[in-house]
Amino acid sequence: MNASLPTQRLSNSVEMLRQLVSFNTISAESNLGLIEFSRDWLAAQGVKSRLIYDSTGKKANLFATVGEGAEPGVILSGHTDVVPVVGQPWSTDPFTLTEREGKLYGRGSADMKGFIACALNAVPGYLASPLAGERPFHLALSYDEEIGCFGVWGLIKDIQESGAKVSACIVGEPSSMQPIVAHKGTHRFRCCVRGKEAHSANTNQGVNAIHYASRLMSFLQARAEQIAAGETPDANYPVPTSTVSVTMIDGGTGANIIPLRCDFTVDVRTLPGTSFAALLDELKAYARTLEPEMKAVAADAGIDVQFIASIEGFGVTDADPLLAHVTRLAGSQRKIQVSFGTEAGIFQRAGIPTIVIGPGNIDQAHQPDEFVEIDQIAQCDAFLTRLLAEPFSN
Ligand SMILES: [Zn+2]
Repeated sequence: MNASLPTQRLSNSVEMLRQLVSFNTISAESNLGLIEFSRDWLAAQGVKSRLIYDSTGKKANLFATVGEGAEPGVILSGHTDVVPVVGQPWSTDPFTLTEREGKLYGRGSADMKGFIACALNAVPGYLASPLAGERPFHLALSYDEEIGCFGVWGLIKDIQESGAKVSACIVGEPSSMQPIVAHKGTHRFRCCVRGKEAHSANTNQGVNAIHYASRLMSFLQARAEQIAAGETPDANYPVPTSTVSVTMIDGGTGANIIPLRCDFTVDVRTLPGTSFAALLDELKAYARTLEPEMKAVAADAGIDVQFIASIEGFGVTDADPLLAHVTRLAGSQRKIQVSFGTEAGIFQRAGIPTIVIGPGNIDQAHQPDEFVEIDQIAQCDAFLTRLLAEPFSN
């Protein structure tokens, strides 16, 4: 009987993954099918969920506490949305989990419904164990991670306001079950400069939007160099400091016209400890110093700085107690730093000790024929069993 238990656990996790993959939760679509399925499945186990909706009511986060007791519990966290499949040459239907040679194919199988399947499937065993009366654990499922980590902010706010007792957070992004210890923050914004058109011979009658845009870009370039010079470089990244890059620009309509508009987009990658918000504030303050001379020529000229999206950076030190705990429980040999963003930095910023570890490989994420190896699901099941059995205290 005992020998058959792990096999049953694994087949249940695979079956759960089959269900989760069948919901088309591409970020542009509603995720409510998956969220309501999870809510109802948890309710059948006697676990109550809270749904935290977005402003349209078409997407929701889910938060659930499993078990009870005085001790704080770990959050198992995953995003429910997946990236699009359009234009990708899939061999099989991306929303039908398909097994071939020890691999489970389907959109989101690695990123990151495999982890969510294991996390949900950990519930029945936990509730049947004495642990469930000593301390709870928590499930946190978000929306809109892939398009800028928009959902998780409301989820974390809800967790904080609910007074849930939290010891740590595991973000189950695909990492081949090795702990991810750091990634840079990713931030994007757009600058829209509105000037005044004039014949290019009559510069005194116009406000040159491209000239003002170039001053803003020079300001950013100078600040980028100062920020990098003030940082402790991290040699584990190909570029060891924070970066600021203008990545798109659009402006001007004719070679002899003072341009009315110039818009440019900026991508910022920050090391932990470097504040994107501060950079944005500095840029806005600089823009305010330019506007009086623009408005002196044209009252409606000006500069608009529009925030697009932010994924907080994430990093833990070698001495981090949660890292030691997770490394031991995962039986892991190495720890990795990655260039992709996750929700981990947002949990960390909220004061919750966090590590990223999950089944599958990021190399398969976002690709056609995305897959997770069945053995990775089995490893994740075993890891979660150990994680939930051994309390972490900071
Ligand atoms: Zn992901």
